[in-house]
Amino acid sequence: MIRLAIQKSGRLSDDSLKLIRECGISFISTTSKLKTEATNFPLEILYLRDDDIPGYVADGVADIGIVGQNVLVEEGLQQLTVKALGFSKCRLSLAVSKGDAYEDVTTLQGKSIATSYPNLLREFLTSKGVEADIHTISGSVEIAPSIGLADAVCDIVSSGSTLISNGLREVETVFKSEAVLIANQNLNPEKSRLLQQLLFRMEAVQKAQK
Ligand code: ATP
Ligand code: ZN
Repeated sequence: MIRLAIQKSGRLSDDSLKLIRECGISFISTTSKLKTEATNFPLEILYLRDDDIPGYVADGVADIGIVGQNVLVEEGLQQLTVKALGFSKCRLSLAVSKGDAYEDVTTLQGKSIATSYPNLLREFLTSKGVEADIHTISGSVEIAPSIGLADAVCDIVSSGSTLISNGLREVETVFKSEAVLIANQNLNPEKSRLLQQLLFRMEAVQKAQK
């Protein structure tokens, strides 16, 4: 039996469940419970918060998982990556108030920036030689400038409409992300074999979609 962690409810959930079903795996989808067993493959699905998935896979609580690269790399666990999955594409971007002047990233020198991704942001700023005051907040990052909490934000964007509706202007891409399959690095031979079977099916699904 192999244990797969997926997001319980959010932007990764539907496509994660869809991918498992497309691999020919049947299960009764009950996200009101914490876990489900597949009926035709030795797989157990755990429903978790996305932020908890990399840590649980690293610790072996789950064997494999599906999570956004943004969360995985922020948590410093990119070495668990097995395969990019091509869905939940988004980017981590810097944005400033619509009316603020912005030349290039050095405009942010000495400014305060609100984000839920301090590590990814710090790495980006350091690579550009910029020092800023990073404020880590867990949600509603996009309202920080309007309430005077920060000069700029660094947040997840897909279409950009949330930024625009909060009076913000996207100025830099910090990190590009999509969903990835991750795995614990010490799987036993039986679990490794099950992972290989799953990967084979996922690759067949991806080929059929091209
Ligand atoms: P949880 O309750 O599990 O902690 P969350 O609110 O942190 O959920 P979601 O907003 O559901 O997370 O986003 C989950 C992941 O989906 C993000 O980490 C990112 O990889 C991706 N994502 C976020 N926003 C978008 C978007 N607008 N379009 C596509 N993918 C996105
Ligand atoms: Zn989360």
